[in-house]
Amino acid sequence: MENEKRTEIATLGEFGLIDKLTKDIQLHNDSSVKGAGDDAAVIHSGLPQVITTDILVEGIHFDLVYTPLKHLGYKSVIVNLSDVYAMNAVPKQILVSIAISNRFSVEAIDEIYDGIKLACAKYNVDLVGGDTTASPKGLIINVVAIGEQQKEKIVYRNTAKEGDILCVSGDLGGAYMGLQILQREKHVFLNAPDASIELAGNDYIVGRQLKPEARKDIIEYLESENIIPTSMIDISDGLSSEILHLCKQSEVGCQLNEAEVPIANETYNKALDFNIDPINCALSGGEDYELLFTLNPKDADKIKSHPDISVIGEILDANLGVKLFTKGGNYHDIISLGWDGLKDG
Ligand code: ADP
Ligand code: MG
Repeated sequence: MENEKRTEIATLGEFGLIDKLTKDIQLHNDSSVKGAGDDAAVIHSGLPQVITTDILVEGIHFDLVYTPLKHLGYKSVIVNLSDVYAMNAVPKQILVSIAISNRFSVEAIDEIYDGIKLACAKYNVDLVGGDTTASPKGLIINVVAIGEQQKEKIVYRNTAKEGDILCVSGDLGGAYMGLQILQREKHVFLNAPDASIELAGNDYIVGRQLKPEARKDIIEYLESENIIPTSMIDISDGLSSEILHLCKQSEVGCQLNEAEVPIANETYNKALDFNIDPINCALSGGEDYELLFTLNPKDADKIKSHPDISVIGEILDANLGVKLFTKGGNYHDIISLGWDGLKDG
């Protein structure tokens, strides 16, 4: 890193920096009428708009010791797109606001924007504006994402019905185990800076943590099969927490079958190495950015052959509670443990 060029932000100034970050941006969506450069962006769509925002704070949501800046930019967009897809909507625009201390060079901000622009290109989203300011310490990134969908196709959390099947995309718990690896290696590194960082063999789970994707493909598949989920939420805080949100808001109960919860081999084995019960990674780990949704049972056949959608349970009457049916044949109440609860198991 020592030989890399370092340009102080002060040499460009705020307007110079904004200009540099936004000058090569092209708009691809018809609804993006005016992007960065004026007092406000202009969006014109004939459809209802779905809007969401997420803030990422250094030291709270990310650690730059093990997070490459380009990945950070990418992930800051993905977490917002995931929320738009979780409404069964199609993201079209983002706005990005950053607060930066003088610890960061122009080159560093450029790297963050490389990641942001990569996510925009991959998901066909336009960067239409934002805000730039100084921060006394550390880095803060706020992204706003705007999407669209026909009113009848927008899917909420509070509309699951008794008898619906509970489905999830992808596999769970990987991002949490990736974080465990990164934190372990950070610890090794801080204690002995010359020690080599050992990430080999953990590519999948480390990738799940550092470079998540949003499930555009699943939303497109459901659309192609004429399926509108009866309810949907994305998995940012762990399966337990999201199931509880769905059930509480929909006023229903649920049975989640442990044996059906998709967990990748690498996640499973690494959890055992760390003395964590793998199911707890899925239940409480979070940051998987998969989609959890319920379907009317009439649509069950249409998703059966999809390799990346698992049926993991069933929606029940509220009186039956929200239960995990374990591999051992027992029922447990699903509670939201959060991140701290994991290692006690
Ligand atoms: P104002 O003073 O009116 O807030 P700014 O100088 O902050 O205007 O922004 C000028 C233009 O540049 C606006 O269109 C704004 O959306 C855009 N912009 C500012 N900061 C960023 C950023 N970090 N990323 C993308 N666009 C930005
Ligand atoms: Mg501004």
